[in-house]
Amino acid sequence: MKLHEYQSKQIFSKHQIPVPKGRVAVTASEAKHIAEELGGRVVIKSQVLVGGRGKAGGIRLAKSPQEAEDLAAHILSMEIKGLPVRKVLVEEAVNIETEIYLSITNDRSTRKPVIIGSASGGIDIEEVAQQTPEKIIKVHIHPLLGLRDYQSRDIATGIDISRQLWRDFGQIAQGLWQIYKENDATLVEINPLVITSEGRLLAVDGKMMVDDNALFRHTSLAEMRDLDIEESSEVEARKYGLSYIKLDGEIGCMVNGAGLAMATMDIIKLFGGEPANFLDIGGGAGSEKVAAALRIILSDPTVKAVMFNIFGGITRGDEVARGILTALDEVKPNVPMVIRLVGTKAEEGLQILANAEMITATTLVDAAQKAIAAAKGGQ
Ligand code: GDP
Ligand code: MN
Repeated sequence: MKLHEYQSKQIFSKHQIPVPKGRVAVTASEAKHIAEELGGRVVIKSQVLVGGRGKAGGIRLAKSPQEAEDLAAHILSMEIKGLPVRKVLVEEAVNIETEIYLSITNDRSTRKPVIIGSASGGIDIEEVAQQTPEKIIKVHIHPLLGLRDYQSRDIATGIDISRQLWRDFGQIAQGLWQIYKENDATLVEINPLVITSEGRLLAVDGKMMVDDNALFRHTSLAEMRDLDIEESSEVEARKYGLSYIKLDGEIGCMVNGAGLAMATMDIIKLFGGEPANFLDIGGGAGSEKVAAALRIILSDPTVKAVMFNIFGGITRGDEVARGILTALDEVKPNVPMVIRLVGTKAEEGLQILANAEMITATTLVDAAQKAIAAAKGGQ
């Protein structure tokens, strides 16, 4: 899950990371009021969950409250990379001397958090990483010992921060580490961390990503979730406790068990098809869950055939079959459906489905081949 800049900055503030004064507005007149409070010269920043807002025109400097209102009205009517702007952050404008990059993320190859700094922060950090990787300094953090002061200093010296700012820099780096750890974040990033013309360090931008699997223990973070950027089908699936990931292929898959779902996708690919989704309905799924899953699969216009692979253990074949019938009552599929149903109550299940116009298959290979053929021959 990604957090908006203003949300990340609220968390930064609580951990003694200095951020510019400012507030969020949803209307242009609100933006004007905030600009008046802040003394007139402000930056209007679109709050959308994509990078490169600056380049897309989503970050503008206003010299007066009136200009703030006009620019906010304009930005609030924009779409950036396909996402509507619903909020703007209005902040006091900062006089920037230097732009630094600072982040903490997870380095999978060493299985450790890593703190990354660069003197060439700002909007083109990806280019810096590609063309002049020596300008990016990385220090791995021991997960139990945490970020040590000497490590922050290594970053500070590596990116030529002057000695009188080392203390403040160390405090910001330590704050970032605490935020990363306490929130189960996978990324905390300040780009740019600026040195102002008054010689102060200030986090002008903020970005956070939090591990979805840890959200259950961070309810206040979970409430910050912005559903705009997410596949509506994935949002719907989450409501029913289904593990569903939308993919680009043409064969909709309904499977019980994550491992079996992955194996099913592999077999589809092996025989030249492409799965339209990953879907694990879970062990012991009842008919209501199955019906929701089928509705979600059938609402995807790229699906040309549906393949059910149900290996009944705790999950019962008759329950699954009833779920399929329930869904078929509501949505009339215009694509062929192939079912492989084995294990607990499989025979009963197949009997329930006898009139449902489904192609039956006995093995996984058989089912995949039939589904691929059906997708090619179908609508
Ligand atoms: P991003 O493009 O989505 O990463 O948005 P940022 O918040 O990082 O802003 C992009 C760029 O706008 C920054 O790198 C700065 O150069 C500039 N910027 C942002 N806020 C201010 C500000 O208060 N004053 C000035 N002069 N420039 C700013
Ligand atoms: Mn930025």
